[in-house]
Amino acid sequence: MIPYGKHHLEADDIAAVVDVLENQFLTQGQQVPLFEQALVDYTGASHCVAVNSGTSALHIACLAAELGTDDWLWTSPISFVASANCGLYCGAHIDFVDIDPVTRNICPNALADKLATAKQQDKLPKILVVVHFAGLSCEMQRIKQLADQYGVWLIEDAAHGLGGHYQGAAIGSCAYSHMTCLSFHPVKSITTAEGGAVTTNDAYLAKQLALYAKHGVTRDSELMVGESEGPWYYQQVALGYNYRLSDLQAALGISQLKKLSRFIQKRTELAEVYTQAFANTALKLPVVTDGNASAWHIYMIEVPHSRREIFARLQEKGIGVNVHYIPIHLQPYYRQLGFEPGNFPHAEQFYAGAITLPLYPDLTAEQQAYVIDCVKEAIA
Ligand SMILES: *Cc1c(COP(=O)(O)O)cnc(C)c1O
Repeated sequence: MIPYGKHHLEADDIAAVVDVLENQFLTQGQQVPLFEQALVDYTGASHCVAVNSGTSALHIACLAAELGTDDWLWTSPISFVASANCGLYCGAHIDFVDIDPVTRNICPNALADKLATAKQQDKLPKILVVVHFAGLSCEMQRIKQLADQYGVWLIEDAAHGLGGHYQGAAIGSCAYSHMTCLSFHPVKSITTAEGGAVTTNDAYLAKQLALYAKHGVTRDSELMVGESEGPWYYQQVALGYNYRLSDLQAALGISQLKKLSRFIQKRTELAEVYTQAFANTALKLPVVTDGNASAWHIYMIEVPHSRREIFARLQEKGIGVNVHYIPIHLQPYYRQLGFEPGNFPHAEQFYAGAITLPLYPDLTAEQQAYVIDCVKEAIA
């Protein structure tokens, strides 16, 4: 089986983890701060808080933005469920903004309309979580303009985006947002097995993020209520969680991050091969819009009909096809909150034809040629 995504590990990645096992603290040592600094250096953001998953990163970002039970969080229906669940963790209400069928990202025009209506109804969202689907950045300049106009917090779910660039800046730079959330799950651009991080340019937010990731407990006198009682002193000042990344994982992350550009280069080359091979077929293909360099997390084709049959045929040929994603609002858990088919037509139309093809640095030219042949045969 050729999987749709796969991590790439080298001998020095493994050696970095073994060195921690043999010589260092397993958790709360030096590796996590070093990984956070490496992510700051790579993204250009001023601060970074590493955590144990991308989902935890989204949760603490919502907590740092003080998302509460009377608030709304909006996100894209074409994302992993975590992009919306983070709002539910805080007891907030969830709504979605339909996608642009070309970029498959939140449509800025749909967003503008929905914000105008929400303002009239006094139901503006507190947070908008934008998702850089498949590694292509959303139109952040336009979206930031709208978010500023309506006083909305902007959080980037860049679980697909690390290694991509927008208007010359690395995704994760937070040039157009309050915070960016990353994931290091093995199918993402780099891995720590499980892991995530939040980047921000706001020093206060960075402290809050660290607080929520570590039980709400602090040794920082600036965050304390009243005076410190001595050098042993700590306070719990918020209800936080244990979302720490371990040093084993951070060591792997540091080693992997050094290879990120190489991984993205390989993904980009493979994506270009797919795009050329499918140029004159009935397939709808991903695009890279002006000002963008995609991280190419996944390569999604849209078939005009017979998705079920085409998917099954590719699976029979040993191709680990997938579908990213079933629109979040159609999940039973979200249906029970009141969402229905027809709510977000572009998202639903995308889903109806979507198939994820294998894309990862170790995919060989032979494997890719086989995938291309099988796809062409299946749609013929
Ligand atoms: C992977 C992913 C997440 C969650 O990341 P984990 O590290 O698996 O918790 C969130 N959002 C999107 C878009 C993702 O692809």
